[in-house]
Amino acid sequence: MYTMDELKKYCFKCKKCRLSITRTNVVFGEGNENADIMFVGEGPGYNEDIQGRPFVGKAGQLLDKMIEAIHMERKDVYIANIVKCRPPDNRNPLEDESSACIEYLRWQVKLIKPKIVVCLGSVAAKNLINSELSISRQRGQFVKKGSIYFIPTYHPSYLLRNEVAKKDAWEDFKKVKEKLNIL
Ligand code: URA
Ligand code: SF4
Repeated sequence: MYTMDELKKYCFKCKKCRLSITRTNVVFGEGNENADIMFVGEGPGYNEDIQGRPFVGKAGQLLDKMIEAIHMERKDVYIANIVKCRPPDNRNPLEDESSACIEYLRWQVKLIKPKIVVCLGSVAAKNLINSELSISRQRGQFVKKGSIYFIPTYHPSYLLRNEVAKKDAWEDFKKVKEKLNIL
């Protein structure tokens, strides 16, 4: 069993997929290693690749606000992505890239042992819950796997383009908070 630091060092050198060629930094993920909640996005964007930190651009600012709206802070939670290196032009990660990288994320989940994993957007939800999942139809529904509850919701980048969907995402976040209170 790796420790988080060992896993991180390993990831920093990773060349398992083609995204290693174009990345500036590996975005390992960050936050409270004893968090009750993990948020998982798709993959680093431009700002994340430059800074080596997840969700630090516009979408990240919205995520921070949503976390604060359920009376938590970014430092209380753990934030990561399906792939740790930026896909060029922010395209979705390809199947072989996500399957190469998700192993690291699974280790992180094993080490953190969160109660809830919030899947931000379709890529995270399909990779972590069910490859056939439809985000618009299944968002806000918990799926228990082992002892962990997974819940899909909209990606903050989607919410920036679709203001009306914010209402639904807010409902999902409130559900997460309520669930946490009874777990
Ligand atoms: N979008 C993501 O999916 N992840 C990030 O870290 C930033 C933007
Ligand atoms: Fe390795 Fe993941 Fe980066 Fe691919 S995306 S090179 S698997 S760390």
